[in-house]
Amino acid sequence: MDHFQYHGRVLHAEAVPLPDLAEAVGTPFYVYSSATLRRHYQVFTAALAGLDALTCFAVKANGSLAVIATLARLGAGADVVSGGELESALAAGVPAERIVFSGVGKSARELKAALTADILQINVESVPEMEALSRIACSVGTTARVALRINPDIDAHTHAKITTGVREAKFGIEWTAAHQVYARAAALPGLQPVGIAVHIGSQLTEIEPFAAAFQRLRDLIVMLRRDGHTITTLDLGGGLGVPYGDEEGPIPGPDAYAAVVRRAVGDLGCRLILEPGRLLVANAGLLVTRVLYIKEGATRTFVIVDAGMNDLMRPAMYGAHHAVVPVVNPEVNDKPMVADVVGPICETSDTFASGCTLPPLRAGDLLAIRTAGAYGSSMASFYNARPLCPEVLVADSTHAVVRERIPWQALLSWQRLPAWLAPPADESQGQADGR
Ligand SMILES: *Cc1c(COP(=O)(O)O)cnc(C)c1O
Repeated sequence: MDHFQYHGRVLHAEAVPLPDLAEAVGTPFYVYSSATLRRHYQVFTAALAGLDALTCFAVKANGSLAVIATLARLGAGADVVSGGELESALAAGVPAERIVFSGVGKSARELKAALTADILQINVESVPEMEALSRIACSVGTTARVALRINPDIDAHTHAKITTGVREAKFGIEWTAAHQVYARAAALPGLQPVGIAVHIGSQLTEIEPFAAAFQRLRDLIVMLRRDGHTITTLDLGGGLGVPYGDEEGPIPGPDAYAAVVRRAVGDLGCRLILEPGRLLVANAGLLVTRVLYIKEGATRTFVIVDAGMNDLMRPAMYGAHHAVVPVVNPEVNDKPMVADVVGPICETSDTFASGCTLPPLRAGDLLAIRTAGAYGSSMASFYNARPLCPEVLVADSTHAVVRERIPWQALLSWQRLPAWLAPPADESQGQADGR
């Protein structure tokens, strides 16, 4: 459920009409709903009620400070995968003791930043990383709380590009080697191993892979405890999918997921860490775009919009489905049009929807691309020297621009021509203006 509804003919974000926002900030733009974020967080945490569980929002799904802060005020922590995300989480007001650092290739600088900030835990994914962390912790004069990220060799049955828990994947420590590696972690100076972590993939639409992975974790913990290790923390990762509209049946929700968590690991006496990303933010965001042209192609009709794959990469990258809906429904129900909704970018993959049924559209009309709050803005790029579009957070009838449009000139200002390519002095003015 989300708080993007039609009132009369006009799509609103909570109580704010989207055409008003388009007028205020220009298109394309992302809009997020505070009430939807709150609802998703509350439904997820309510499902886990009674368990000793900390929900750490996976910041890579949506790095907006305003989104992170909205969740943090409700009690969420943060799961970060880079030094930049760590800084974002801290800047958004997430307390360090609620931040977990994941990722397969953390640099020495990033590890040091995590130790200096004294975050809750660092999930290590290899022996060399563990050794590096041990050295850095010793040099800083601190002890790193670490969990070993295990690769449980479970197929998540999701898109190949976001399956992370199979043996062939680069993620985690092979589960059969886990007890050896855990013993090594316990022996290294500067490290305090506290537990195990797992994350088997994203956009899971079945519950069984979670059940299998958590069972494997359980077996491992029993074994590690038998070896004399203390295990206080279990990080179960994220990955629960959301409906985008093209699924075959209903997909499991937080209650089904929580039931599996309870059954598999609820009685181990461990503190649980959950790292949902997509589940919390996907339905809480729309990408709003304006129709530039209607083009009758040889075999199809194209609705050319001002948003592109640089703004929302998921359709191009994963063949992902996003519902596209009119922001203002027509007064009378005219014969609908069937069209491809495409962006302006020079790639055929720059297509948001194919064979989409829409009311008859004209240039200037607004469209909303749904379920765009996760892996939308956070994956955006300047491709084709396009700006990064603004982000707006709505709370009831108020809104705030939480990130301004970042103009493509920002890119130019960071570039330098080497001396041997510098334009002759009398031409330099025109060059600097980009003319
Ligand atoms: C990406 C990621 C998540 C979040 O995944 P979602 O599918 O968005 O819930 C959680 N934990 C780790 C380690 C990740 O890499």
